Amino acid sequence: MSALLTDIRRIIALEGPIPVERYMALCLGHPQHGYYMTRDPLGAAGDFVTAPEISQMFGELIGLFAAQCWMDLGSPSALRLMECGPGRGTLMFDALRAMAVVPGLRKAITVDMIEMSPVLAAIQRRRLQGDGISVRWHARIADVPDDGAPLIVLGNEFLDALPIRQYVRQNGQWHERLVGLDGEALIFGLSPAPEPAIRQDGPEGAVLETCVPAHGFVAELATRLRRTGGVALFIDYGHARSGFGDTLQALRRHAFIDPLASPGDADITAHVDFAALARSARSAGLAVHGPVGQGAFLQALGLEARADRLIRNAPSAEKADAIRDAERRLTEMTRTGMGSLFKAIAFTAPGQPLPPGGW
Ligand code: SAH
Repeated sequence: MSALLTDIRRIIALEGPIPVERYMALCLGHPQHGYYMTRDPLGAAGDFVTAPEISQMFGELIGLFAAQCWMDLGSPSALRLMECGPGRGTLMFDALRAMAVVPGLRKAITVDMIEMSPVLAAIQRRRLQGDGISVRWHARIADVPDDGAPLIVLGNEFLDALPIRQYVRQNGQWHERLVGLDGEALIFGLSPAPEPAIRQDGPEGAVLETCVPAHGFVAELATRLRRTGGVALFIDYGHARSGFGDTLQALRRHAFIDPLASPGDADITAHVDFAALARSARSAGLAVHGPVGQGAFLQALGLEARADRLIRNAPSAEKADAIRDAERRLTEMTRTGMGSLFKAIAFTAPGQPLPPGGW
């Protein structure tokens, strides 16, 4: 039995059923037993594989994206490069290597990593040490010093880990979805009191999701980007249009499991509502680009040419096949393929040039 389950049962026994948002926050970020706080979940031996772990090309192309943005900003002598939820540090490692081709850029960069997990921060530190670039770690974006330098923010599979609230339509009103106890087991239920503040209509039984921390995060980004100039790029899975549906999901050893089955021992995420994020960013005064499918985004950044080049230099036919496979995997356009389910969205301070990416 998971250690966290004991804690969550105790909380519910004392306080009553808890919102899905609190459940998700405990599962991922509980200081002792939270999923990200205790392990490296990435890779074939872990629970899920992300794009930077599939191929070096992903981080390299994002590095070139950042390099172009820096030049569009007028090649400033100081640039804050921030990554949210950097996992193993692979994206940043590959991006910094690709950025070295642009004269003067690496000299300008200070890296800020936003990472809540001490385990992953230690892995990132090892990965980036000796790279000759100043890197600092912060638990929250609000902790990143603001010295006025322009900002480039990157985040791959970060937003999906931010806790969501869910509401279910019952008798013409929205009720918050809660996690409670049925004997020893965790079960979903609904708050008896409706939420009159949600004015949206919806069919009986519909599930409405909202990610409050994502909107707070966008607001904080907007304040900074509008002051310093810059670009933020997020890549994640989710939907381009807001809609109804329960997207809470848990992954363990590369398979979906019941989100209540193994609190703290499974990755628990939700699809990103890109339309809601875009609305939030626009109302905070940012220009929004996309979302576009990850496939189209990576192609626009030159994925094919990069793959061809790596294949030409591949030491063996197997290595060449692996590069072609990775290219296919990153751009696959089936319903659940990374090329379409995953999307890229960029925010810029108003009046700035369009960032690269095929928007
Ligand atoms: N970007 C990486 C890792 C994705 S996994 C990759 O593509 O491989 C999610 C990452 O976000 C992890 O590093 C996790 O520790 C971090 N994370 C999740 N929620 C967070 C939060 N609220 N604040 C800071 N980091 C968070």
